[in-house]
Amino acid sequence: MRRHRIAAIGGDGIGPEVISAGCRVLAAAARADGGFVLEFEEFDWGSDHWRRTGRMMPEDGLRRLEPFDAIYFGAVGDPHIPDHVTLWELRLAICQGFDQYANVRPTRLLPGVRGPLREELGRAIDWVIVRENSEGEYAGVGGRAHRGLPIEVGMDVAVFTRAGVERICRYACEVAMGRPRRRLTVVTKSNAQRHGMVMWDEVCAEVTARYPDLSVDRMLVDAMTARMVTRPETIDTVLATNLHADILSDLAAALAGSLGIGATANIDPTRKRPSMFEPIHGSAFDITGKGIANPLGCFWTGAMMLDHLGEPAAARRLMAAVEAVTARGETLTPDLGGQAGTEQVTQAVIAALEGANA
Ligand code: ATP
Repeated sequence: MRRHRIAAIGGDGIGPEVISAGCRVLAAAARADGGFVLEFEEFDWGSDHWRRTGRMMPEDGLRRLEPFDAIYFGAVGDPHIPDHVTLWELRLAICQGFDQYANVRPTRLLPGVRGPLREELGRAIDWVIVRENSEGEYAGVGGRAHRGLPIEVGMDVAVFTRAGVERICRYACEVAMGRPRRRLTVVTKSNAQRHGMVMWDEVCAEVTARYPDLSVDRMLVDAMTARMVTRPETIDTVLATNLHADILSDLAAALAGSLGIGATANIDPTRKRPSMFEPIHGSAFDITGKGIANPLGCFWTGAMMLDHLGEPAAARRLMAAVEAVTARGETLTPDLGGQAGTEQVTQAVIAALEGANA
């Protein structure tokens, strides 16, 4: 029996609600498969931990996560604690500490879900956005001086390295080659940013040239937003910088119907350290504790995690169960126009998994 060890970090707001639902659904997927078991260990890190101890996670947090095969992460963010504390001391500390340099976000309009685009345009959405996750505009390099004075200055420096661009571009090429259309769009802004972005273009051109079977095009980020809305069928795999992909991903999520469905993965392609899987939504304190958080994004990222762990059949079965539930349309949370709660959606997906096994 194959065994995979998962560190489950619910985090803040609705994070623990969707992660506990996700752990149950993943356990059901493992049972339906019969070839592997998942062992979950929970970590109560996040903003409440910060209130108790002054830290989002213990000092040796990374060392404790390192032996796991994957990390299943809910959300982080608290209305009473500055975002830069909650984000940098937990989520980004893990992403950067484990060099999870590829952030991968699939986008598809699931059956039965209506997005804001006209029917035929919405159905054409089938994308994977690959985001550079370790440097660029979010490298954390910069500073502030002369606070409060008229001469105050604040700077964030975008850092692009040849090694960083090369490795993410290679990863994006591999992702694109694994998809039927074998098409990669490299997003840039080299018309306005004349140094790092020009190097990004040059290095991407060198790397993509090594993939003759890949059809590659280059697009300015501003034009890319329009193309996602007006010509979604022309897009397949997208490579973009940390900032650009952050924005494009939110647009993609909105076009796919609800923030509650989107899934993402922070991958260390070298597999030296655990990768981290999370729904794209945040802590959503407005609905925390009400039992109506949509858990589907957490299930989708759970399927990505199974795939990463070498369980592609179980991943497919889990996504089929999620899609069976959205297609039927009876058991959906309010963000998707339904009246069901997290628990009912969870039970419906588990029932679909068990049905598939029967
Ligand atoms: P954060 O600051 O942690 O990013 P946020 O509350 O500002 O959190 P999100 O949680 O990303 O932002 O979501 C914005 C809104 O979308 C929420 O306030 C909530 O109403 C809705 N939403 C997000 N996720 C879900 C979900 N899983 N199910 C239902 N509604 C959701």
